[in-house]
Amino acid sequence: MTIVVKVGGALGNAVEPVLADLAPRPDVVLVHGGSAEVDRLGKALGRPSEYYTSPSGVVSRRSDPAHLEVVVLALAGTVQTALVAGLARHGRKAVGLSGVDGGLLRARRKEGARAVVEGRVVRLADDLSGSVESVNGEMLSLLVGAGLLPVVGPPAITDRGEVVNVDADRAAAQVAIAVRAEALLLLTNVPGLLRDLADPTSVLPRIPRAEVEATLPLAQGRMRKKLLAAREALEGGVPRVVIAPSSGAAPVGRAFRGEGTVIE
Ligand code: ADP
Repeated sequence: MTIVVKVGGALGNAVEPVLADLAPRPDVVLVHGGSAEVDRLGKALGRPSEYYTSPSGVVSRRSDPAHLEVVVLALAGTVQTALVAGLARHGRKAVGLSGVDGGLLRARRKEGARAVVEGRVVRLADDLSGSVESVNGEMLSLLVGAGLLPVVGPPAITDRGEVVNVDADRAAAQVAIAVRAEALLLLTNVPGLLRDLADPTSVLPRIPRAEVEATLPLAQGRMRKKLLAAREALEGGVPRVVIAPSSGAAPVGRAFRGEGTVIE
């Protein structure tokens, strides 16, 4: 049975322990984000990241063509290459694939993305973002079956061949559904879903499936996307989703055993 592990790309994530723990595991798919690297590269290229909040309170990265170019360079370039090289240093052959390769992540482009600007809802022109609707799970199974570790990240591709940015947590949920994963582990820079963001000991250890909706107000900003991803994965038949820290020794094993927030 396959485990899908998503490692966060925001500051404070620890990638090295995740790679060390993943390298000896036969049946895993790694999904990655890389927001800190997108921010860093964007700044270096004179295209600093912009974020917006949707009317429903979800924070997203602005993905007009100039920003999307940075996303592609950072995620399908720098971040993915570093993860594949890191796994190689741990003796594991990995294959980096963006969602465009082999139609891996098929997305529907968001029509008329909306943002709240100074209290008013405005339509974002030129937005190249989308949501993953299907995943080429056969290609992933083929690679896993050949002993390779797929390393997957945004961007994704639409039916019309447009390259769009997608949320990595929600992409990971769709990957987990497609490979019929036994668990989806969302490893991040916090110990789990916190009741109080200022108190790292306030981790909610378990959220029954029926209560995901009720816990949404606890999560601000991008943590909301992890809960939405968890809900999507459960609805798609993944039995267990864990939000857990990427730091410390053996983070994959610890999350698999239920450290952090288990949603099932
Ligand atoms: P990653 O790049 O690891 O996926 P994100 O920045 O996307 O990380 O999401 C994790 C962040 O979500 C945390 O660093 C924290 O600031 C924020 N967050 C908001 N609400 C909560 C909450 N209730 N519990 C934990 N983290 C939260």
